[in-house]
Amino acid sequence: MSVHKQPVRTRFAPSPTGFIHLGNIRSALYPWAFAKAQGGIFILRIEDTDLERSNQASVDVILEGMAWLGMHPDEGPFYQMQRMDRYKHVLAELQATGQVYPCYMSIEELDVLREKQMAAKEKPRYDGTWRPEPGKALPSIPVGVKPVLRFKNPLEGVVVWEDKVKGRIEISNQELDDLVIARPDGTPTYNFCVVVDDIDMAITHVIRGDDHVNNTPRQINIFKALGKDVPVYAHLPTVLNEQGEKMSKRNGAKPVTQYRDEGYLPDAMVNYLARLGWSHGDDEIFSRQQFLDWFDLDHLGRSAAQFDDAKLRWVNAQHLKASNDESLASWVKDILKQRGIASDERLPAICGLFKDRCDTLCVLADWVSVFYGDVTPKADEKALHVTEAIRPALALLVEKLTACAWDKVSIASAIKEVLTIQTLKMPQLAMPVRVLVMGTAQTPSLDAVLALCEKQKVLERLKNA
Ligand code: GLU
Repeated sequence: MSVHKQPVRTRFAPSPTGFIHLGNIRSALYPWAFAKAQGGIFILRIEDTDLERSNQASVDVILEGMAWLGMHPDEGPFYQMQRMDRYKHVLAELQATGQVYPCYMSIEELDVLREKQMAAKEKPRYDGTWRPEPGKALPSIPVGVKPVLRFKNPLEGVVVWEDKVKGRIEISNQELDDLVIARPDGTPTYNFCVVVDDIDMAITHVIRGDDHVNNTPRQINIFKALGKDVPVYAHLPTVLNEQGEKMSKRNGAKPVTQYRDEGYLPDAMVNYLARLGWSHGDDEIFSRQQFLDWFDLDHLGRSAAQFDDAKLRWVNAQHLKASNDESLASWVKDILKQRGIASDERLPAICGLFKDRCDTLCVLADWVSVFYGDVTPKADEKALHVTEAIRPALALLVEKLTACAWDKVSIASAIKEVLTIQTLKMPQLAMPVRVLVMGTAQTPSLDAVLALCEKQKVLERLKNA
């Protein structure tokens, strides 16, 4: 195992071939957190060499999602398509040292080989026909065929690494064939670009999804052929959706930015994603800073984590409750703006009054909207609470409130006066007033709610009984 010098350098290397979802962005969270926790550097690298499937909209979701979650890269984004010359340069170096060779085997020949191997119940693999060896006669080069370049994988020995998640992994070189590392047009292939980037970017820890475990021994052999230190690997188990399938866009996963639009807090999302495959004792709710203080690679889970929407909402509710009123107000202000509603200086206090009954910012904005816009009392609640019998008390309350100074204490004593005069219990009056003023009977304490409402609006809504 190679010894790594500080600083820790990690990377997130998404392929922009579809909207990035929660399962993908978790592969950014851990390398980001590890770099931050170690005082290291976090790099963003966009692996956009699949020209047919890569698109700018997917890049945008990656960049916006990471910005929203506060996972700012210290270096990058680097785009692989802009590094082609560099890959070709390194390829030429490998060629010069005899570690790659041209292979002229056609697709048809490869198919025949594969079928023969399958029929013999062997693992399909390239058979080394064009691999030069001392004393070996190679077939004659076909005319007009451009070769691929293959990497001379070692024939003997094993590739071993201590995976931070999966433990020790050993793969015999006999199981690995000679990988194509450049296409006939000279463009380098995926595994080669990844290694060149990880070398050039001096990556010390590769933290990525375990769908790449099979690439790792091949990549390690390329590192060695280039005479470079091999990074530490941590392969994260997959994230399953609520149905227990691998999370993917095809089966309904949402782009990560949709959670922003649905009113999730970035710190809540970081908290939730962190727990989806990592633990710190029994801690479920923690701040961004606590997460960064605690994060290590030794407590990553070994089994697949399952997404749970109800839990995410619960985590969000806990963060919402713990947020200060001013920050909530600034988020809610933006949501209100999108709804065409202007707010004012009452906003932080309104957010403070309602924050512990909301699980998203959008739900909070719904409550807040009642203070700034119109209200339509829920019909069933109106029928239940705003009865004929209560109308005289409501009329008296309008009278008392009209003459009342507009603060919580004065409003409370006006309500109390009405209760005494009408010999009513608090809920008998409070419920209809809530329905008329707030649209529903389930609200925080009435005096607090009314004090944050405009006096004129309260009086109008009560008169509409
Ligand atoms: N581009 C690869 C992906 O999106 C990740 C490669 C890596 O992390 O090495 O799955």
